[in-house]
Amino acid sequence: MTNYDVIVIGAGPAGYVAAIRCAQLGLKTACVDDWLNDKQQPALGGTCLNVGCIPSKALLESSERFLDARTGLEKHGIEIDNVTLDLAAMMARKNKIVTELNRGVAGLFKSNGVTSINGHGFLKNKNTVEVTDGKKNGNKLNIGAKNIILAPGSKPVELGIAPVDNKAIVDSAGALSFHEVPKRLGIIGAGVIGLELGSVWHRLGAEVVILEAMEEFLPMADSQISREALRALKKQGLDIKMGAKVLSAKNSGELVSVAFETTKGKQTDTFDKLIVAVGRKPNSTGLFSESTDLIVNTRGFIEVDEHCYTGQHNIYAIGDVVRGPMLAHKGMEEGVMVAEIIAGQSGRVNYETIPSVIYTHPEIAWAGKSEQQLKAAGTSFKSGSFPFMASGRAKAAGETGGMIKVLADAKTDRVLGVHMIGARCSELIGQAVIAMEFGASSEDLAMTMFAHPTLSEVFHEAALAVDNRAIHMPNIKK
Ligand code: FAD
Ligand code: NAD
Repeated sequence: MTNYDVIVIGAGPAGYVAAIRCAQLGLKTACVDDWLNDKQQPALGGTCLNVGCIPSKALLESSERFLDARTGLEKHGIEIDNVTLDLAAMMARKNKIVTELNRGVAGLFKSNGVTSINGHGFLKNKNTVEVTDGKKNGNKLNIGAKNIILAPGSKPVELGIAPVDNKAIVDSAGALSFHEVPKRLGIIGAGVIGLELGSVWHRLGAEVVILEAMEEFLPMADSQISREALRALKKQGLDIKMGAKVLSAKNSGELVSVAFETTKGKQTDTFDKLIVAVGRKPNSTGLFSESTDLIVNTRGFIEVDEHCYTGQHNIYAIGDVVRGPMLAHKGMEEGVMVAEIIAGQSGRVNYETIPSVIYTHPEIAWAGKSEQQLKAAGTSFKSGSFPFMASGRAKAAGETGGMIKVLADAKTDRVLGVHMIGARCSELIGQAVIAMEFGASSEDLAMTMFAHPTLSEVFHEAALAVDNRAIHMPNIKK
């Protein structure tokens, strides 16, 4: 049996980053991953790279350009006739990006000396992983390690009333590979996936109806931003029905018939395709034997402390399989932290400043506490906001929708939360995260110089507005 210092189970963003960092720190490391692509070839990178962050962003980018070419460039004085869609080429581009990045992770493993093993890993005891080869007739191999990092990720939550058949009813992975644009597309769930994939297919020409069970739209975001987002997305033509309880979904061959109930009563709608996007659940079953003493909570998450230590032997768990937001960058940082702790260093993750981004147009992004969270906690705070409408660069770009809002502690002035809706907010939020990571006050941001003309100036002005001293808009005395 080959022995390693560390075995990582899972090569998604949490696992592959952990493996690379372990190897960088001189630890003999193996990473076991069971993902096989359509061609039954190993494809490192997990959900994020194969059917998540990357392919969805490739399609978001392509679909935005298609829409721009069709209707968005006239205001710039550019007219294009006969814009047509080659969906096969768009999909081929997306697939090529994924394959290139799969190879990129494999290359990084090779250059860092990580042993990559394709197969399903099972933690037999605290030091032994049994790997079942997915390709070669289920051959089994035992490997050993002093330290184990579990990073098996998550999978879509299934709905009994709308079972995925991978034909007309699909999950997020299926929705990234339609062969034609559905005429009418139904989506169950107005969460991050519903909004991003709904945007893709709506831009490409589908009529999109999103059925959301909750009355409150994007409850995890600052409510002012959520309200503005709902308005903007509805204005684009996404038919978002809040408080819609789905009763059944039936695929009758050609169409899917969906029955749902709102305050207006029971209704039925038919769609060419239906996407079920009602959350994801951790991959914690069939992963380890009872002898490891690991604890899984009622929601399926492996219990860990703030250092992702399970409290058992030398076993750690990171990424979507543990508490916290199911985000690739959160898993990556946990991977680095755990690798450094195993190597005897002092790794840490600041869970207070994890950025969240929804890649719709306008983009929605935030870090830190929302206004409603601060109010609920009884924290007194000051607020400053600034609209993109008043930014010269936003006007030049034709991207005047949205705003940035800065929340700062009323006594210390420390920035507690930053909330954004507008173009390029996925990039702008990084500035807020850096500020908060360094414990900046709104005064610090006010005293910082930002290049003109840039969208970043909107962040500067929002910080200035905290003390009623924004320059490029009248300040309303608070
Ligand atoms: P995963 O990426 O799920 O990887 C786990 C890997 O482990 C997989 O390869 C799996 O096959 C393998 N595995 C599982 N069990 C075993 C086992 N027993 N043995 C061997 N291998 C095993 N997040 C963002 O931050 N930004 C985004 O823009 C974003 N967009 C998304 C879009 C979509 C459509 C989806 C579905 C998700 C998106 N996410 C995004 C979420 C992101 O993909 C996840 O948070 C992230 O992939 C979690 O990383 P992970 O390493 O924990 O797990
Ligand atoms: P989500 O939790 O964001 O949204 C699911 C939505 O479905 C919620 O609004 C929920 O109220 C609704 N819902 C649940 N059951 C329902 C039902 N029976 N009928 C109608 N609505 C119902 O989950 P998701 O959109 O599936 O995304 C899964 C995870 O992937 C998220 O945790 C997210 O963090 C991650 N993700 C992140 C990004 C990003 O960072 N940009 C993109 C995609 C996915």
